[in-house]
Amino acid sequence: MQHKRIIGRLAPSPTGYLHLGNAWAFLCAWLGARSVGGRLILRIEDIDPQRSKPELAVALMEDLRWLGLDWDVGPYYQGERLTGYAAALENLKERGLIYPCFCTRKELRSLAGAPQQGDGAGDGLAGESVYPGLCRDLPEAEREERLRAGRSFSWRLRVAPAGGNLLASEFLQVNDLVMGRVEFTPEQAAGDFALCRSDGVFAYQLAVVLDDIAMGVNQVVRGADILHSTPRQLYLYSLLGAVPPAYAHIPLLLDHRGERLAKRHASISLRALRQAGVRPQAVVGWLAVWAGLAEVGVGGFQSMNATELLPEFSFRRINAAPGRLPADIAKVLGCGAL
Ligand code: GLU
Repeated sequence: MQHKRIIGRLAPSPTGYLHLGNAWAFLCAWLGARSVGGRLILRIEDIDPQRSKPELAVALMEDLRWLGLDWDVGPYYQGERLTGYAAALENLKERGLIYPCFCTRKELRSLAGAPQQGDGAGDGLAGESVYPGLCRDLPEAEREERLRAGRSFSWRLRVAPAGGNLLASEFLQVNDLVMGRVEFTPEQAAGDFALCRSDGVFAYQLAVVLDDIAMGVNQVVRGADILHSTPRQLYLYSLLGAVPPAYAHIPLLLDHRGERLAKRHASISLRALRQAGVRPQAVVGWLAVWAGLAEVGVGGFQSMNATELLPEFSFRRINAAPGRLPADIAKVLGCGAL
């Protein structure tokens, strides 16, 4: 049997400098493709113009190279692919699968108290609030009236009903290369979801699926904080008549207090570490030991190049639980002996 060539991708958002959590995710995506002779695409996910900065895209490419990670194709920029997203949205509209939703964020917040992304234990199972379906079956006359009045609206996808506006069970299972079989409740997967915001910005869910299909991506490696989006993406694949990729959701690296890494963790951006004299091999070596991809050496971790992890790499070896960085990680990394 001939195996199809793996096509993976590095899909960073240029909304901040890469931190150790990003380094971990991109190292895994790189290893997942390169360990089996696969190809890698670089896609800059700058879909949200308010949050993305071109100089950060340049910086993150520098940081990826510094870490020893390369790619074969790209960079593609989502900001240059808007016509394709608009055409796909139009197609879904013609098929009667999306509807204008006039609900404001404030209204929705006051209606629902379900967990938001990022809540929970970093296991990726906490979804967003289930959309209460207010605009799903608006009488046509009412819809027209609101559109005529110039009310702002987002485009929401009508999900295959498991009852109400919840996703049908066939989309609620993910066979994950790291996490194994993961099952979601319809509520965790949220209900009808937005594909285009009221300010015209396309939703991550739509852009990422369209791009992965267009670029032939068949292996998606990303943080477990995105796991809860996967049922919605599986549903989009089915609507678009495409085969979903293999998924590997990797455990999150949290700060020493157990909080998600974010821009405020500037001191552990790859940039700051580099400026503090940390070497990329120390970052790779420490991550590898933390994740179970390399043995603990005498006196701690052993510095290494990403390529040294290739022969033994397997998603099954990754320890699937979220982990915390030591408070003095910069110091720890600074001690990495070659
Ligand atoms: N651009 C997303 C991020 O930086 C990744 C999206 C994905 O891998 O599906 O978190």
